[in-house]
Amino acid sequence: MTSTQCVVQFCKLSIFNKVPGVTFHGCPTSTEMRNKWLHALRHKCVLLDWTKSRICSKHFESHCFDSQRRLKDNAVPTIFPSVNKKHLPKTYISRTKIERILSRMTQQEIMTDIKNSMNKLKEPMNLDNMVNEEMKFKGEVSTEAQLWLIVKKQEHLNTRLMELLAQNKKHVEALQSNIKQNKNNKKDVDQSMETHKYIVKCLQEKLATYEEQIEILTAVEAR
Ligand SMILES: [Zn+2]
Repeated sequence: MTSTQCVVQFCKLSIFNKVPGVTFHGCPTSTEMRNKWLHALRHKCVLLDWTKSRICSKHFESHCFDSQRRLKDNAVPTIFPSVNKKHLPKTYISRTKIERILSRMTQQEIMTDIKNSMNKLKEPMNLDNMVNEEMKFKGEVSTEAQLWLIVKKQEHLNTRLMELLAQNKKHVEALQSNIKQNKNNKKDVDQSMETHKYIVKCLQEKLATYEEQIEILTAVEAR
């Protein structure tokens, strides 16, 4: 049975209270036109049933009708009642509220939130059986089992990732201690360089003293 009410949300017209001149129309049948309607009506009606839903002529511009007031095949609804936000049903408001909360959350917070939600879900005890039995009989796995398999795969990947992270951390720590060691080595080398320079200086001074003494001795001998 076709619907008696206009499918557009907040449009109060039905075949019982229709205003003179308002006509009711069924949905298009071609995939192309249905896609266009879906796009136009995606936030404008709660449920769109291609076979039952009807829409009133108030949502179409005048060029959408032929001279007989029949809706043209390429007509797409474009006129919708403007809605005061105060009168929106709660689901509308809460959806935007969720979006606002999500946009405020950091990546980390979202991850924590997802993890918490995941912990609350309980994995079916017989997941392996479920998968095996269903594959045997139906040749396919139920969505629930598939989701759990994805979750398990994800958990496995997460564990692997954490292992790799821990390994990397160790490597970085080893590198850092190497750098520290190298710095200390350099310090030691610098210090011994200084010591050697000092020794060379002392030896040079001593050499000078000896040369002086030799000079004196030579002079004494010459007399
Ligand atoms: Zn309507």
